[in-house]
Amino acid sequence: MNASPVIDVQHLRKTYGGTVAVADVSLAVERGEIFGILGPNGSGKTTTVETMLGLRPTDGGRVRVLGLDPHRHPRRLRERVGVQLQQARLPAQLRVGEALELYASFYRNPAEPAELLDLLGLTGQQRTAFASLSGGQQQRLSIALALVGNPEITVLDELTTGLDPQARRTTWDLIERVRARGVTVVLVTHDMDEAAHLCDRLAIIDHGTVVATGSPRDLTAAESAYTLTIRAGTDSLTTAALPLPGSSSFDLVLGELEVTGSPQDLTNVLVALAQHGITPVAVQTRTRTLEDVFLGLAGDGAASLVTTSR
Ligand code: ADP
Ligand code: MG
Repeated sequence: MNASPVIDVQHLRKTYGGTVAVADVSLAVERGEIFGILGPNGSGKTTTVETMLGLRPTDGGRVRVLGLDPHRHPRRLRERVGVQLQQARLPAQLRVGEALELYASFYRNPAEPAELLDLLGLTGQQRTAFASLSGGQQQRLSIALALVGNPEITVLDELTTGLDPQARRTTWDLIERVRARGVTVVLVTHDMDEAAHLCDRLAIIDHGTVVATGSPRDLTAAESAYTLTIRAGTDSLTTAALPLPGSSSFDLVLGELEVTGSPQDLTNVLVALAQHGITPVAVQTRTRTLEDVFLGLAGDGAASLVTTSR
């Protein structure tokens, strides 16, 4: 039997006046995993985590974090859940070492600051003012602050947004090291590449609603996981020639046939073409990505999701 989830959210709802920021979000985070909350800007990710952690009142639903209701036990949870909020900024003149000491003073059993600085590659920056750090260093400091209380869970909201590719990579490595220390990580991101790279499981949110949950592999491994693009002589390809299996879809544009389906579907198409004497001049296959999943599920917000080529 699975242990009970460390975060259990059922039908969470949050409105601001007439705006429904979170319509209906249910999710369960297991101990020790990196769980992603993925969705376009404005889809309700930050509102979900802030209400889930008791930082904002809810309008409905049930939340348990480490078995506790965060609205009734905010203090007890603050000791056990480290948060890096999207909007958090530190005073410009505050030095790295001072920030860590200040945050450590909030906790009964804080981490060793030197060890954290080492883990985060900030050794030697203790006396550097927040404003003088690079973007990547500021992000790493904010992870350090989220970890300084030795939390069981850490929630990181848009941690790598605005970082250059190298700093983003370094931050990803860091998140993996944090998880290796046994911390459960909730990663909020609008970046599909990041979610695919880091998350064990994720919930895709659109317009305040969870539209899919699963591992990146589960989400991309549907029946229609492969797309085959076939090019032949312009006139020889006609869909009439093809007995296409039920589960596949196809599109014939400018002499290119694009078929989406299972590997077996795609084989059947190639066999059918051969039986009609049609020899492709080019065949290209592509497996489904999280982006395809998202575009298949979501509405107009989907266009604002970012993928970055690696
Ligand atoms: P995300 O983190 O996915 O970008 P948010 O949770 O920040 O999304 O926002 C979800 C929706 O709620 C958006 O339409 C946003 O404009 C609205 N919203 C967020 N915070 C507030 C607030 N404090 N007051 C009013 N509307 C808000
Ligand atoms: Mg946000």
